[in-house]
Amino acid sequence: MNLFRIRGIQLQLHFTFFLLIAFIAQDGWAEARWAGLLWSVATVLAFFTCVVLHELGHSLTAMRFGIGVRRILLMPIGGMAEFDDIPRQPLREFLMTIAGPAVNFAIVGALWFVPLGADNDVVLRYSLAGLVEQVFVANLVMGCFNLLPAFPMDGGRILRALLATRLPYLRATLWAASVGKVLAGLGVVIALIAPRIGLTDEPLYMLAVLFSFIFIAGEIEYRAVKRREVEDAHWRDVVARLYVPNRATAEPPPVLFP
Ligand SMILES: [Zn+2]
Repeated sequence: MNLFRIRGIQLQLHFTFFLLIAFIAQDGWAEARWAGLLWSVATVLAFFTCVVLHELGHSLTAMRFGIGVRRILLMPIGGMAEFDDIPRQPLREFLMTIAGPAVNFAIVGALWFVPLGADNDVVLRYSLAGLVEQVFVANLVMGCFNLLPAFPMDGGRILRALLATRLPYLRATLWAASVGKVLAGLGVVIALIAPRIGLTDEPLYMLAVLFSFIFIAGEIEYRAVKRREVEDAHWRDVVARLYVPNRATAEPPPVLFP
């Protein structure tokens, strides 16, 4: 579903997003009727506003480098900006990537100075101060979690950019994607056995889905980079470069940015 445009970038909601809102609202209602419902929904909306700001950090930096942003999509597992391409210059990829978590840490820094009043958990739960506290923690977690070196998460892209200063681009991507897949695989296992190792009461299914998604997205992007390298090599061999413009007729798949 299309929401509105920000600086020309279309913001979209995945239909499963409404399932999340319904689930959260119902949970809040069960806990404390209207106060619980309103507070829970407000918390989720505040959280996703921060997700959008994170994606705008990536997107506006990308636009400065002349890269087209197709859309920002919000899903229950988080947000995703879709770009036409990604800069091959490591410094540009680094800047474009770090801009996302930097937004989260800026919010954390700003909220640090907001006085929360009494540090009483019961009072905080359904109050504005409680909301501020949730947003503070959420941004801290979001900023740190995205910096995990699990390509194509932000940390993984930073790893690729660092490797690309020493290695050919495709090899750098292979290494970053491999590290990412190991971490994502571990993430799925840990999320599923969380109750057995005493982390939580129930398996963290959403986290397992998120890590599976990271695993698949890493492989897809590695393959896309590989395909392009092969194509580029092929076209370099073709003496008649007049044919090159024809390549642009099919729209390449977008580069996904969590
Ligand atoms: Zn990000």
